[in-house]
Amino acid sequence: MEKVRVRFAPSPTGPLHLGGVRTALYDYLFAKNQGGEFVLRIEDTDTARYVEGAEDYIEEALEWCGIIPDESPKKGGKFAPYRQSERRDIYDRYTEQILKTDYAYIAFDTPEELDAIRAEFEAEGDVFSYDNKTRNRLRNSIALSEEEVQKLLDEKTPYVVRFKMPVDRTLNLHDIIRGNSSVNTNTLDDKVLVKNDGMPTYHFANIIDDHEMEISHVIRGEEWLPSLGLHTLLYEAMGWEAPQFAHLSLILKPDVSTLINKDNIDSITKSFAEEFVLKNSQFSFDESAELIKLFFAEVKSPRFKSMLGENDKDNPLTASVKQFLKKGLSGKLSKRDGDKFGFPVFPLDFKDPSTGVVSKGYRENEYLPDAFINMVALLGWTPADDKEILSLEEMSKEFDLHKVHKAGARFSKEKSEWFNHQYIQMKSDDELLQILKNTDLNLSGVADEKLVKIIGLMKERATFPKDIYENGKFFFEAPVSYDEKASKKAWNEETSAVLEELVKNLATTEFTSEILKQAVHDFAENKGLGMGKVMMPLRLSLVGELKGPDVPDIMELIGKEESISRINNAINNFK
Ligand code: GLU
Repeated sequence: MEKVRVRFAPSPTGPLHLGGVRTALYDYLFAKNQGGEFVLRIEDTDTARYVEGAEDYIEEALEWCGIIPDESPKKGGKFAPYRQSERRDIYDRYTEQILKTDYAYIAFDTPEELDAIRAEFEAEGDVFSYDNKTRNRLRNSIALSEEEVQKLLDEKTPYVVRFKMPVDRTLNLHDIIRGNSSVNTNTLDDKVLVKNDGMPTYHFANIIDDHEMEISHVIRGEEWLPSLGLHTLLYEAMGWEAPQFAHLSLILKPDVSTLINKDNIDSITKSFAEEFVLKNSQFSFDESAELIKLFFAEVKSPRFKSMLGENDKDNPLTASVKQFLKKGLSGKLSKRDGDKFGFPVFPLDFKDPSTGVVSKGYRENEYLPDAFINMVALLGWTPADDKEILSLEEMSKEFDLHKVHKAGARFSKEKSEWFNHQYIQMKSDDELLQILKNTDLNLSGVADEKLVKIIGLMKERATFPKDIYENGKFFFEAPVSYDEKASKKAWNEETSAVLEELVKNLATTEFTSEILKQAVHDFAENKGLGMGKVMMPLRLSLVGELKGPDVPDIMELIGKEESISRINNAINNFK
């Protein structure tokens, strides 16, 4: 059996989005599962869409995810170079080869000529397509005489190479995930294979490289499914065996009802309204925002969908808003969704070099890389027994391309946070200490030993490493105020006297959690008070609210002096 070799072939046109990460991950998992190799190839033939820094970003992102290629532009390998812009001589050779067959021809039509003919078709209510019905009347080596072609070539007239789509052939296509389908070549056009600067287009470079690099399986996004017919014929034209194909379905927008709450409804409304008026400048921002907010206020009720669906007797603003929301809340997950709803759609922060705008990344938003890829892997694949938590290695063992879902996978912000929470629980306190020390928190004044204990007490409630600090602020600083509701509940006229006496006892008590627990218990019993009457005000004094881990644990960690000082502060405050 031939060796399994798969490639991830991104174009450096911007940061890698979630869909791209998933494609790379499935490539990797499949390769590892099959004992094969995983190749990173940079498809940078489209110079117009090239974005500075994108290639480095892609490599760094894969590295952060732990999806390490066996061959890549940086690492090299036996099929180097792995950057298409450096493979021009290879493409030139194959351009010559395909032009000798009946599958390709050269065409001299200028962009202006093509625009003109497109306009002519449009005027007739038709859509122009460069194909077997039109190619005979255009300026190419099929329509022109040999002499005319030679003359144009001698005059150095720029030309492109086009694929000559065969007439009326039914192609039977196979996809590992989607099964069999067929397409008639009459529905396909004569795609450009080589541009007038001599650079191949995606289609041609891609099949040449997949052949040259001995790729056995092509795993890619479903947006390439319409190209499968052309690619199959290109392999035929070149006399090569085609690899197997698997097209991954889309990652879909999250369910909006899980994202909007009373805290963010205004800011989300604002960003939707801004986008709406940008596209519908006839309406005012305020009016539009007001209406959008009315819809979002209903987003959790079952009525929401039907409200968007009704379209009788709508005024123009309502009708446009409904249309805009219907479109904006369904379909493919986009970068915009991340901005609007406040979750990252990229693995790492990306600063757009032309606008300077930074898009948020999972890494910078404190997701753990293993939690992130676990979440991504399950967008479209269900491991056996519905297991959810799997390491990269476990996933590699179990991954099966045949079990990848045909339907789109809905992204969930909640679920991605859930994964992060789970992975935090699996980290040791020492590992979390290292993670926290690598954040921008200033922990220099706190001993590691104390931090590890705080981590142990707080991680259970943490979704992100920083939550440990944010939710445990009282370990680092005394409360400056006391929550009003908590104060009403925890403090009455007698409380100050009770705590004053407790402080006296504490002065001679050893500050370990065990002993403190017993001491407070004995104290309450002696006074004939319920535990709550002592514990609650004590907690309020130490924390400022009625939350946090067990009170004796807090006291042990902040120490005797600090505990007593906080209790005295509270007594003074409530006097
Ligand atoms: N360069 C293409 C892209 O970025 C690759 C598609 C493929 O894998 O064939 O989507």
